[in-house]
Amino acid sequence: MALVPFDDRDGFVWWNGSLVPWRDAKLHVLSHGLHYASAVFEGERAYNGKVFKLREHSQRLIDSGRILGFEIPYTVEEIDAATNAVVAANGQPDCYIRPIAWRGSEMMGVSAQQSKINVAIATWAWGSYFSDKEKGIRMCWAKWSRPAPNTAPTSSKAAGLYMICTMSKHEAEKNGYADALMLDWRGQIAEATGANIFLAIDGVLHTPKPDCFLDGITRRSVIAMAKARQIQIVERAIWPDELAQAQEVFLTGTAAEITPVGEIDKYRFTPGPITKALLEDFGRATRGEVDFPIS
Ligand code: PMP
Repeated sequence: MALVPFDDRDGFVWWNGSLVPWRDAKLHVLSHGLHYASAVFEGERAYNGKVFKLREHSQRLIDSGRILGFEIPYTVEEIDAATNAVVAANGQPDCYIRPIAWRGSEMMGVSAQQSKINVAIATWAWGSYFSDKEKGIRMCWAKWSRPAPNTAPTSSKAAGLYMICTMSKHEAEKNGYADALMLDWRGQIAEATGANIFLAIDGVLHTPKPDCFLDGITRRSVIAMAKARQIQIVERAIWPDELAQAQEVFLTGTAAEITPVGEIDKYRFTPGPITKALLEDFGRATRGEVDFPIS
């Protein structure tokens, strides 16, 4: 199938306050965000026209910018409204949404104190992030580790943090795997390249503490769903060899939704009752039949 490039599509992009025709949403090559990764973004999904956990995503965008030292010039209410406007304008009730904020072209150096903060929001039709979701995806170890919180702004959804994710994912795909599992700088299990991870061990759910990676909005939703089902959930440090004890493993993320994992290196898992129950709850939550509050 021919790729349809993202800069040559129909529709609208919300661009610094107004909807512009898709192909006009361009920036100059001398933009600070491009050279110095002074950009933060979000990934959201709309289900039947309604953005799942919109407020939490808009707030995280603002918070991510503050962590990088900049203030997005819109309120959380304005970002929510802009997101809904662009979803409606593009006429795809089931879509992926990409808000991004970046430092502009006013200054080009490490210091960019006077640079203007730009914000854009685009949407596109997008189905499943992974194929093979039924029996579980195949994963390998990433050779890159998540940095320590005093090495990078790890709780920001900052563009620069994705450099090691793309390198890890490309390496995994080159070797026939769907994704890579990243350890953190201590050697503990951290997350996949764009999703958090959960292990079911003898009926109890375990997930790494998000102390050096994104505390995903889907992750928090899944924890709320597990609690509502009275499934015990433990957030803790998890070492790689503990995968040997897990019967079920799955990833969570806006793009990944809940994706069962069948294989990580030499370890094997089978999607079972816990994964299935949470998949059912997630389906109900994204269809708006039930809410699992997370904030
Ligand atoms: N970790 C990384 C590196 C991600 O890119 C994502 C996707 N945003 C997640 C975790 C999951 O976060 P969320 O559930 O908020 O989409």
